[in-house]
Amino acid sequence: MIVVCKLRQKWAFALFSTFFFLLTACGKPAAGPVDQAAEALGREAQSLSLGWLESAAHEASTNEVRQAIEDVQNILAASNIASPPSAYSETCNDSKGRFTAAFVTKAASDIYVCSASKRLGKVFLAQVLIHEALHLGGITDECEVTRLEIEIMTSAMRIPYKNAYVTQCGLD
Ligand SMILES: [Zn+2]
Repeated sequence: MIVVCKLRQKWAFALFSTFFFLLTACGKPAAGPVDQAAEALGREAQSLSLGWLESAAHEASTNEVRQAIEDVQNILAASNIASPPSAYSETCNDSKGRFTAAFVTKAASDIYVCSASKRLGKVFLAQVLIHEALHLGGITDECEVTRLEIEIMTSAMRIPYKNAYVTQCGLD
């Protein structure tokens, strides 16, 4: 629980990052170990974020944000929440002790939830899913995704947590 305590003390530093892989692959990747609890949490977070997006749609400050919300709604509603395929088993934990909550690949429309997402809980994960859905919409630039992620969260009257990109992108 040290990680969670640190997170509360220094919430400006997200202790995980989200990854987007520009790898291309053919066919369906081999399944990895299934974390049913993480998948269940991911689906709860998916419902939660779809609720946020519904209210955000009425509050968008610009047409760009309104369009991004609509895109994310459609993508997230159609996304399958799954455990990572075996080829990405290293993606969830890096050598620096940081962890990834969720990630997407170019090869599929699935959103993969890591076991570590259980440490974050549903509310954090719901924002992460919005981030990942923006990637699935074709935006690869992390700063651009993070900027829209914050706009969407603000439109949904939520106080966004700062992911690992906020500071490096100059968004705080
Ligand atoms: Zn990202």
